[in-house]
Amino acid sequence: MPSGASRQPRKTAGEFELIQDIHRRFGTTGPMVIRGIGDDAAIIKSSAGRWQLLTTDLLIEGVHFTLDTATFKDIGYRAAVANLSDIAAMGGLPQHLLVALAVPPSCTPVQIQRLYQGIMKACRPHGVQLIGGDTSASQTEIFLAITLTGRVEPQRALTRSGARPGDLIYVTGTLGDSYVGLQLLMRRRRKRPSGLHRVIMDARQSRYLIGRHLRPSARVHVGRLLATHRIASAAIDLSDGLSGDLRHVCTQSGTGAEINAPALPISSACRAYADACRIDPIQFALRGGEDYELLFTVPAKKQRGLHRLVQGLRGIQFTCIGLIKPHPFGMRIRSAEGSLRTLDVTSYDHFRTKPISARH
Ligand code: ADP
Ligand code: MG
Repeated sequence: MPSGASRQPRKTAGEFELIQDIHRRFGTTGPMVIRGIGDDAAIIKSSAGRWQLLTTDLLIEGVHFTLDTATFKDIGYRAAVANLSDIAAMGGLPQHLLVALAVPPSCTPVQIQRLYQGIMKACRPHGVQLIGGDTSASQTEIFLAITLTGRVEPQRALTRSGARPGDLIYVTGTLGDSYVGLQLLMRRRRKRPSGLHRVIMDARQSRYLIGRHLRPSARVHVGRLLATHRIASAAIDLSDGLSGDLRHVCTQSGTGAEINAPALPISSACRAYADACRIDPIQFALRGGEDYELLFTVPAKKQRGLHRLVQGLRGIQFTCIGLIKPHPFGMRIRSAEGSLRTLDVTSYDHFRTKPISARH
């Protein structure tokens, strides 16, 4: 989800529909393409039978980031995490990195070094190696496209299409923190916050939320465990916001889903910000993107196995937030009072999204 400046509304289809159209018209399949367009990463089979993962993400200044709210190092770090997270969502091990970069004349060599320092800081713990890229001049904005390869054991990849009715829906970590962290950064940068009332936040909580935005974690280790122990039936990373990312799983799996609103994991810092702004924190959890947590589904008979597995993982929260339902059920959300309503897709769409506003 972009962190950026104003966007022009488009009269054409949304991002999801556009990608579906490209897929329909131009997407190719074949014996070596296990998974093409439609998942967090593509899976191709090598002639030796190995499964290779490929993913790419493009970040544009003014759309995905601004230099007002992130340093060059932060930008590089987050760009790398976006890709690492896609490999994590496939249950894969990230391996090799290519970086395509276009910079305006105002960028100094030191700034570009910082960008790479951020990329490598995120990649190094996973043993990922930089093997190539491309460089160009741009007129005014920075463009950063990262391509990451990975590998996964044959037949073990986690995809968006494996969820079945009755499976439990889990997420790692807490939701909405990154979005709120960005709001705090933007408020800080505004000299006179026009039309916004002041939000008083505890300094520690602010630091936590901003940290979650600028330095998110890719859940590579969790993805590996879920894949190698065959615990998850489907997975996706939460990059655009829960409601939209869950829709991808439901569409690809041919299912519906019921989300239990009170179960959504929301940090105390995110709640404090929501209270200060008089916004229901559930909105942040459903719409806020770039948390890079994993959403995955688990058949009921594997729930015990999951609990055993996560006992060894200190510091990462796992929360059951709902249940996969048959397709005609659609996507619905149950409130704390027990009422059930349609779960609208309100998460980030490049061509449609408006900001989250206060309750009236
Ligand atoms: P993610 O948020 O996990 O990076 P996206 O929503 O960007 O996933 O993309 C969903 C799927 O559509 C992926 O398989 C991706 O490779 C594919 N995709 C996205 N944009 C394009 C495009 N312009 N052309 C072809 N495939 C695309
Ligand atoms: Mg993804």
